[in-house]
Amino acid sequence: MIYQQTGMMIRQTSYSESSRIITILTESGEQVPLMARGFNKPKNQFITLRQGYLEALFTYNRFKGMGTLNDVDVTERYKNVNGNFDLYTHASYILEVITRALEDDRAEPGFYRLLKKGFKLLDDGNESFGVTSLVLIKMLPAYGGQLNLDSCAVCGRSDYKKYSHYSFKYHNVICHDCLTEETLERAIPVSNRVLYFALYLKSVKLDDVKSIQISKDIGRQLLKFIEMLYDEYSGVYFRSRKLIDPQ
Ligand SMILES: [Zn+2]
Repeated sequence: MIYQQTGMMIRQTSYSESSRIITILTESGEQVPLMARGFNKPKNQFITLRQGYLEALFTYNRFKGMGTLNDVDVTERYKNVNGNFDLYTHASYILEVITRALEDDRAEPGFYRLLKKGFKLLDDGNESFGVTSLVLIKMLPAYGGQLNLDSCAVCGRSDYKKYSHYSFKYHNVICHDCLTEETLERAIPVSNRVLYFALYLKSVKLDDVKSIQISKDIGRQLLKFIEMLYDEYSGVYFRSRKLIDPQ
């Protein structure tokens, strides 16, 4: 059976001297392994797949299991991402966080939309630490994490201007009126603007995110905070994380 699906290549491994097995994540959120014959040869029709991240229309034959790639027609090139090392490392981090949460037999169309949104925002010149934070916040539940910013754990008020710490005892934000020796146990100070922006990114619908314009400093602090949540809840080590240092 011949298929045509829009997707992105998320993995590749060498199979033989001339061929590679690639895995694409399709728009419908499924992973499809495909044999790309001739991929390693200097001239072949898949050469475009070696030119960095892209979205394409993939044409392939597949019955069960591994398919055979026939054609690749690029729909989105992400020129800025592929041409700038900093943006490329953010894109790699985003890709790793999304793909490692995939399971073999479950389609995740939402993950694909998030991947595409993250790449597009990076490519359009939005603040890169903020874009990466958006993706990590949206993916946090898939890693068993939580981010509770609706109201202070102690007084219950939603006065976000007073938010000052995040507590890993209450797994919730706390405000500066409620800081005592007891409530400060396992609490970290986080800037008010960072907490407010995290709340916004958590609540906003992906389709409504048109741009992320914050200062690099706030972006860095935000990512550092979100990474603490991943350390606390997931224990997963992302290889590409070390390329991006929000310190
Ligand atoms: Zn309070």
